[in-house]
Amino acid sequence: MSTNKQKTTDISELGEFGLINRITKDIRINHKNTLKGVGDDAAVIDYGNTCALVTTDLLVEGIHFNLIYTPLKHLGYKAVVVNLSDVYAMNATPKQITVSIAISAKFTVEHIEELYEGIYLACEHYKVDLIGGDTSSSLTGLAISITAIGEAKKENITYRSTAKKNDILCVTGNLGAAYMGLQLLEREKEIFKTNPTSRPSLEGYDYILQRQLKPEARKDMMELFKEINIKPTSMIDISDGLSSEIMHICKDSNVGCKIFQDKIPIDENTAQMADEFNIEPLIAALNGGEDYELLFTIDIKDLDKIKDQPMIHAIGHIADKELGTVMISNSGQSIELKAQGWNQMNKQ
Ligand code: ADP
Ligand code: MG
Repeated sequence: MSTNKQKTTDISELGEFGLINRITKDIRINHKNTLKGVGDDAAVIDYGNTCALVTTDLLVEGIHFNLIYTPLKHLGYKAVVVNLSDVYAMNATPKQITVSIAISAKFTVEHIEELYEGIYLACEHYKVDLIGGDTSSSLTGLAISITAIGEAKKENITYRSTAKKNDILCVTGNLGAAYMGLQLLEREKEIFKTNPTSRPSLEGYDYILQRQLKPEARKDMMELFKEINIKPTSMIDISDGLSSEIMHICKDSNVGCKIFQDKIPIDENTAQMADEFNIEPLIAALNGGEDYELLFTIDIKDLDKIKDQPMIHAIGHIADKELGTVMISNSGQSIELKAQGWNQMNKQ
């Protein structure tokens, strides 16, 4: 690192998105078939009769996962799933992955085999092929970087930037469960630290724990969209919390939106855990992360097609940009959504 006395900027001043912006704003695209580079869930490359989708994610020990309560097999599974989720968010089918790992001296061969058991389980479940990677040692901890490659026809691909006024905003499944699972694991970790003979009390919390430790990507939605003949007008996966993802769609599509608090789907297990922690369940849904559900918009004329789908919840609609991104609370107040996200860079 250079030590000259030029003005330096703390990364925390920019935050994760600010930093990505800064380092990618001058990218020059050399190839006409690079349809989409930085700025969506996956990049899109046009090969004529088909498009390839490419996305990558890096998971770092102590930042994205804690091995005190994360079994390595689960970690391997999740590392694959978070990538596939980005491919599904483009309405595409993931086909291949590469896996790169950096391993510190505390890990044994058996540890890494356990990690790969999870990776192979996800490959089997989502029908993707592991086709390569890289292996390195690391000074501290474990890092896993996975790249997923998917396929789609050009006309089926959904972007973040194509929502339009009056479209209906929808989410799949339910939100906030993974965040409450994390809170529970963190609580038990603290109790264990002060009293190592205590046993964690995790019984009865299977659902939220599973949402945190072994999430699934919404493969089923690609199939459902085909079945009910819908092409979302825009789509993103919910990895950083509903607020942050809504802001991405609205900013990139140059629109505003209005959502309704009472329409946001929250599982009763999530609400119960939030209650125990004295957290508003809504906060977990809006700002918690790692749900890996899909947020998408549909043309209002398709509304009937989703009405009887138990997995799809209409939570609001797209509006003029001037309206901003607002939520109408249960008491009728209009609240401006904030992208608090889950800024991994500021977490530690
Ligand atoms: P997601 O949460 O969907 O995985 P990110 O928020 O990590 O996406 O990234 C946003 C966009 O910025 C993506 O298009 C990603 O490929 C790109 N990006 C992130 N980090 C870098 C980097 N270091 N260099 C170039 N592009 C990056
Ligand atoms: Mg994403």
